[in-house]
Amino acid sequence: MRALVTGGAGFIGSHLCEALLERGWEVICVDNFVTGSKKNVEHLLDNKLFTLIEHDISQPLEIKGDIHGVFHFASPASPIDYLKLPIQTLKVGGLGTHNTLGIARAKKARYLLASTSEIYGDPEQHPQKESYWGNVNPIGVRGCYDEAKRFAEAITMAYHRYHDIDTRIVRIFNTYGPRMRIEDGRVVPNFIAQALRNEPLTVYGDGTQTRSFCYVTDLIEGIIKLFEAPGYDPVNLGNPDEHTIKEFAERIIEIMGASSSIVYKPLPADDPKRRRPDISRAKERLKWEPKVSLEEGMQKTIDWFKSQ
Ligand code: NAD
Ligand code: UDP
Repeated sequence: MRALVTGGAGFIGSHLCEALLERGWEVICVDNFVTGSKKNVEHLLDNKLFTLIEHDISQPLEIKGDIHGVFHFASPASPIDYLKLPIQTLKVGGLGTHNTLGIARAKKARYLLASTSEIYGDPEQHPQKESYWGNVNPIGVRGCYDEAKRFAEAITMAYHRYHDIDTRIVRIFNTYGPRMRIEDGRVVPNFIAQALRNEPLTVYGDGTQTRSFCYVTDLIEGIIKLFEAPGYDPVNLGNPDEHTIKEFAERIIEIMGASSSIVYKPLPADDPKRRRPDISRAKERLKWEPKVSLEEGMQKTIDWFKSQ
């Protein structure tokens, strides 16, 4: 079996490449390193089953030979990254998804799109079920990411319906773990880096907004199960263990035994107020639920950041 993984040199993509190789797949990883790094897959370069191609997937790509699975994970994913790269983000969600669907169609491969909880925007339903259509500001600063992913879901469904492509859509909720960039601006690397330096943790707004954090190995297990299971409806994958950001900052200070205080900074525009996945569909169809506790996942992530 041969897979194409776009964004394979990123945080989640690199873990996915590893998991597919462990299952005996041959993996072609395509990345332009805009937010990822060759370092994330350096340890795989000696593996004969692994190939790394530097390419911007918003441009067409020709792959020789069979492909059985296309996993489209290329996209800036941290708010700081996509605010800096709004046009590239729209292009990779639009043109990149079109190009990768074209590859799946030409190769008769199964296709899996990495979508996001951001398609629910600032949700008015809580927790978020797959049946919810969302509350997105299309012209706000997060619109470049949210609408790109909504377009990506729409074109994936169009290829499924019109070209009969075997598709899967995973709506990923906040995921963390080793290989996140320390400076990527997301809350987990920010808080860990600040606590390691005993600097104040920067809580945006009053810290009452919530997020639910999933450890990366749990997510990858769910993605593989989703790819292997029948059914094309979108599936939420994430950990329903919900925390306010203020409480999350306090937990990190406690886990790390840091002497950091908390400082409050302005809340970014359109920052969703509450987020927690309803994972009933994943539980029922995939027999999947996350296993790694916040303490265990955070400890592994902290150890990794320390080693960097
Ligand atoms: P990341 O920034 O670490 O990885 C993204 C990778 O895509 C990077 O290696 C980057 O260089 C690559 N990339 C971006 N544009 C590209 C292009 N035009 N051509 C080729 N490669 C390109 O982010 P991540 O957290 O690993 O996210 C991976 C995927 O999962 C993204 O599609 C993201 O939207 C989705 N996702 C992630 C989370 C999360 O919590 N981490 C949540 C929801 C969705
Ligand atoms: N956040 C914060 N301090 C930081 C970074 C983020 O309070 O240093 C907040 C952010 O405003 C959001 C939550 O943490 O409410 C999660 O932010 P992140 O950028 O990780 O991802 P998001 O879920 O917003 O895409």
